[in-house]
Amino acid sequence: MNILPEPAPSAQQTRQRLAHPSWCIRTDCAENGEHVSRWHSVNPDRPQLVEIDLRLSRGIVRPAPTWIELAARVGSDRHVYELSRAQTAALKHVLGALLAEIRA
Ligand SMILES: [Zn+2]
Repeated sequence: MNILPEPAPSAQQTRQRLAHPSWCIRTDCAENGEHVSRWHSVNPDRPQLVEIDLRLSRGIVRPAPTWIELAARVGSDRHVYELSRAQTAALKHVLGALLAEIRA
């Protein structure tokens, strides 16, 4: 008996089988190996020295954690940092506390 190996799935087959999270923008997830949301700008109405954008990201291989990507741009320099959920929760808490101190 001759058993042939299963052919590797094509990129299109992989794309069709992916279960995207509700927040995924569904753009090239299979090719990039991750689901991502749209970027959320946290830049108020006037120009900032540091422009910050945030989005969600999760690897396509399960189980995969979801993390927050923080992009910081100064002039033409842009760096993207990956923050865990725990870091994001701690950041939210610290920023809230610092804002409360400013208002006091
Ligand atoms: Zn996706």
